[in-house]
Amino acid sequence: MSKEKQFVKEITPQSEDFSRWYLDVIRKADLMSYSPVRGCIVFKPDSYEIWELCQKELDARFKETGHRNAYFPLFIPESFFQKEKEHVEGFNPELPWVTEAGGEKLEERLAIRPTSETMIGHMYAEWIHSYRDLPLLINQWANVVRWEKRTQPFLRTSEFLWQEGHTAHEDEADARRETMQMLEIYREFVENILAIPVIAGKKTPSEKFAGAVDTYSIEAMMKDGKAVQAGTSHYMGTNFAVAFDIQYLDRDNQQQYVHTTSWGVSTRLIGAMIMVHGDDRGLVLPPKVAPTQVVMIPIGPPKTRGPVIARTNELFAELKQAGIRVKVDDRPDQSPGWKFNEYEMRGIPIRIELGPRDMEKGQVVLVSRVSGEKRMVSQERIVEEVKQMLEDIHKEMFERAKAFSKEHFGSVDRLDELKAFLEEKRGFVWAGWCGSDACEAQVKEETGATSRNIPFEPEVVKTHCIACGEKAQHTVVFGRSY
Ligand code: AMP
Repeated sequence: MSKEKQFVKEITPQSEDFSRWYLDVIRKADLMSYSPVRGCIVFKPDSYEIWELCQKELDARFKETGHRNAYFPLFIPESFFQKEKEHVEGFNPELPWVTEAGGEKLEERLAIRPTSETMIGHMYAEWIHSYRDLPLLINQWANVVRWEKRTQPFLRTSEFLWQEGHTAHEDEADARRETMQMLEIYREFVENILAIPVIAGKKTPSEKFAGAVDTYSIEAMMKDGKAVQAGTSHYMGTNFAVAFDIQYLDRDNQQQYVHTTSWGVSTRLIGAMIMVHGDDRGLVLPPKVAPTQVVMIPIGPPKTRGPVIARTNELFAELKQAGIRVKVDDRPDQSPGWKFNEYEMRGIPIRIELGPRDMEKGQVVLVSRVSGEKRMVSQERIVEEVKQMLEDIHKEMFERAKAFSKEHFGSVDRLDELKAFLEEKRGFVWAGWCGSDACEAQVKEETGATSRNIPFEPEVVKTHCIACGEKAQHTVVFGRSY
């Protein structure tokens, strides 16, 4: 066995068992621990910091578009859920209830929020009186709980961290504009920050959010060809306004119901990022959310260690000063080879090596995690060169993910073709759909694939329904999903 293989032997190869690979990687990279409560995980510092970096990027985009953060309570009275019929039917099976507190049975059970439309609807009815109060643009960063039957670290947990935006508008046009704007913010963030290409589109009625008029999503393809719904944005119409009596006096002094929206992304994005970019050596982190972007490793024999470490520390200070998230590993008891493998496994985008020969030449060696490319660059230019390489790595990761998705996209006309595609190639397909729930259900039953969304920009336009063969109303993306 080669030396390299030995270092990564605890990680199951992706081609052997992708799920095993995923669990091996998150365990070895120390991202999470299972908690004693089913489906709940501990976000250890590295994964939590990835989330904090995501939060920072998203929060800036929300504020830029006029939203403000607020915080609403975790507990929601049962009666609130009864007010919107579809909402309660959709969420009831997943709700955990508090029935007792302070040693006494509660008069009314309290749900632990799975999402906050009801609590926020209740408050908006108190806050909104006139068209001057609109639009009301609020976001909340919070934890929510959905008692999921099947769970998987990050991707689907019983408790997860997310943001939920809730907005109220004078009319449908303004609310729909908001719904689309937030979906576009998610697309831009996921592509430009996480380097994950996505398909934006509208969910079919059977897949939409409980209580929404329309749900829109961005969908990403994992390296095993399965889909992850990476973010959703909902237009609620007046459903919640009617249920919670959120009315305002319009410009003509008439009482009107507001139109509301909600939109969210969660810590699921961390799982998607791992599954889109990771490889058999471990994690590959997109530079913009990597808690450590650069690791510096001084090398060479003991007699030159003093000056090499001193120079490493000077260059470290320069990089840090320039805002780059950098650390030095000068532990003498671990070999450089061990460190190289360790940081590759942890997905750190750039490794910098500095040894006595580099000292003589006034250079450092930059090594890219994603391609293994080595660049010898002048120490004088270290900040610019590192910034450039981080940029290049982001682009390369995005292009690779895009190429993968393209290779694993099919176009099918019949169910047996879809089945064969899913067995042989795995991935997503373009398929026609007549618009009936029955045909959509048949696809799921016979192939295990669900409709991901009806893309805004289909690359292929299909004319006949994949299930019944009748005229297609839409071209839909189907795929098996997490
Ligand atoms: P929803 O409120 O159902 O539209 O969900 C909003 C977003 O939260 C989805 O797009 C998912 O990315 C994410 N999400 C939903 N359920 C879970 C879960 N159990 N664990 C992690 N993320 C989730």
